[in-house]
Amino acid sequence: MDIRSMTLEELKTTLAAEGEKPFRAAQLYDWMHRKLAEDYGQMTNLSGALREKLKEKYPLTVLRLIDMQESAIDGTRKFLFALPDGNMVESVWMKYKHGNSVCISSQVGCKMGCRFCASTLDGWERNLLPSEMLDQIYAITRITGERVSNVVVMGTGEPLDNYDNLLRFIRLLTDENGLHISQRNVTVSTCGLVPQMRRLADERLSITLALSLHAVTDEKRRELMPVAFRWQLDELMEACSYYFERTGRRMTFEYALVGGVNDGPEDAQGLTALAGPIGAHVNLIPVNPIKERNFRQSGHSRIEAFKNKLEKNGINVTIRREMGRDIDGACGQLRRRHIAEERYGLTE
Ligand code: SAH
Repeated sequence: MDIRSMTLEELKTTLAAEGEKPFRAAQLYDWMHRKLAEDYGQMTNLSGALREKLKEKYPLTVLRLIDMQESAIDGTRKFLFALPDGNMVESVWMKYKHGNSVCISSQVGCKMGCRFCASTLDGWERNLLPSEMLDQIYAITRITGERVSNVVVMGTGEPLDNYDNLLRFIRLLTDENGLHISQRNVTVSTCGLVPQMRRLADERLSITLALSLHAVTDEKRRELMPVAFRWQLDELMEACSYYFERTGRRMTFEYALVGGVNDGPEDAQGLTALAGPIGAHVNLIPVNPIKERNFRQSGHSRIEAFKNKLEKNGINVTIRREMGRDIDGACGQLRRRHIAEERYGLTE
């Protein structure tokens, strides 16, 4: 296992095998996860000999910044990073009144195939390691010089399809010896992998689970999301109830409004019936049109009407503020543009 994906306990065991005392592991962990060192050379309280040995046996692999775009409207920044194997991942940094939020990717590409999503167009390449998820946050902290207080796993990839690495990532991210981000400030978004949602409920974490719902009938959901062929809405809703029961944490339902597809009064009514019983918070997202598909946003008045209907029905609802509207549109598009440039020398 790569050294930056190890827990402190595992690191102690690893270093003990090298004949090192437990406090050395604590020092090393502190360098990696609190001081965010990129190189063993920086770890000046470890002996030169130990640093050499570690460098040889456990090379530290860090993300390399390839591109950054900053929104002139709201300061949102998109980062494109290269992984050691040459793959690329995208992360987003958003400034809110209550603190800085980072949206990270959990996989290189995605196999879920949601029709409106740019991240899945080129398919799935591989899972990210826990350290590669952490490093998106570490690199952004180093670059911005500001503390990250919220993390959303809503970038490219299906986090629950990379379950073990995701769990390890959450434990390291929220560990008191690392960045110590509160679990309450971590959100994981899933397209609805039912068995993993149940498994996650049993972990008893206090993170927020967001479900990408997007439609309130099986038929409509299948048109938008292939995953809906695998699990029906009733099974999915049972998993949501289970999650709420086990953790006491209200879920978020994400609902991308697509003009003329899922934005009518009957959809709002159906959404009420699903969200109401478990007190789920509904987050409406005007769909971000990607050029590869002809989905369009609902008109402003239709979005308002949809929201008002939910509110009247007693549902807790917000419309997602569009951040960084002026920089490379929907998630995954910065990465796709760079891949296209690399492969075909294209620039748009
Ligand atoms: N695989 C996870 C997390 C990544 S997608 C999931 O499905 O939840 C993060 C969120 O962005 C999901 O709610 C997804 O449905 C939504 N999304 C993807 N493409 C979008 C687009 N073009 N417009 C609006 N929302 C989109």
